[in-house]
Amino acid sequence: MPSQPIQTTVIGSYPFPAWLEHATTHLDQFGAADLEEMIDDAVTIAVQDQVSAGLDVITDGEQTRLDFNLSFYGFIEGIERETISPRRWGPPAHDQRGKHRIVNTLRAPRGLGVVEEYQRLKRLAPAGPILKASIPGPYTLSGRLLSNDTYTDRYAVTEALMPFVQRELEGLVAAGCQEITVDEPSMSCYAYREDTKRFVDIFNRTVQPVVGKCRLSTHLCFGNYKGHPVGYRRIAPMLPDFLDLQVDEVHVEMANREFAEIELISEFARNMDVAVGIIDVKSYYIETVEDVVARIRKCLEFIPAEKLSVAPDCGLSQTARWAAKRKLANMVAGAIQVRTEG
Ligand SMILES: [Zn+2]
Repeated sequence: MPSQPIQTTVIGSYPFPAWLEHATTHLDQFGAADLEEMIDDAVTIAVQDQVSAGLDVITDGEQTRLDFNLSFYGFIEGIERETISPRRWGPPAHDQRGKHRIVNTLRAPRGLGVVEEYQRLKRLAPAGPILKASIPGPYTLSGRLLSNDTYTDRYAVTEALMPFVQRELEGLVAAGCQEITVDEPSMSCYAYREDTKRFVDIFNRTVQPVVGKCRLSTHLCFGNYKGHPVGYRRIAPMLPDFLDLQVDEVHVEMANREFAEIELISEFARNMDVAVGIIDVKSYYIETVEDVVARIRKCLEFIPAEKLSVAPDCGLSQTARWAAKRKLANMVAGAIQVRTEG
């Protein structure tokens, strides 16, 4: 169960402050201590924004993943950074993301960095809100690695990455993390054309070491790189197989899809709690408190308040910070209003 009815939560990422984004293009001008200070400051700000909004669950805003070396791929040995994207010009979209070549056995002797992120968050966050850690699942993580003669397709790469994610999950639990999201948006994006039973098997084997040891959730969206979706934006192809995901809570994108298939949250709710994306991270229309109230009431037509969490559709990293702040504040105000008034 969520910590309270209509729990307010977020998906991992939060916009970088302008100075951090500027700094990431000049990292060679900073020393290791400067960098540490910079990341602490950035996480402090992301935490402060979320606490000010009044959220029940907060993250570190993924402020530490600021360049290749601090990204998951920077932690993985055996890959060569591909600097040239398949398409370099024109409208921003997924096909401009660089892919990395696998040149040796994949290894992650230093972990993937998420345990350190969680420890930093724990050190910097005030008492009160629940602290959530997010980590991509191995299928999503495999999406930017090119297969080769050893790792012959995306599924082979996924299997190779799975133990790295498992070790990180175990490390998070050992560090005291109570709430973990394993992000697998690639599974929701491609459910319409891939074997969904195979997805569920991959997911469940990934989380097996920590099932029952923390509150586990997954985030299923349809893509948000540069604010653009990439998947076939329908939940129906995920069902019924995704009902077997071993999670306490599933998060689905609804606001940008104008609540299409909202009735399907009752299917998920038979096996798990449901976090519904009621804030559109791709639109600069700021949802009013009244909008939020109406959207929550719509969700409550299908599942009870005790099983419902509300969140933005996806991480807020692709939404300007001023808009993110206002959207979160209104989301929380709307949730409180429904909790009070019913
Ligand atoms: Zn997402």
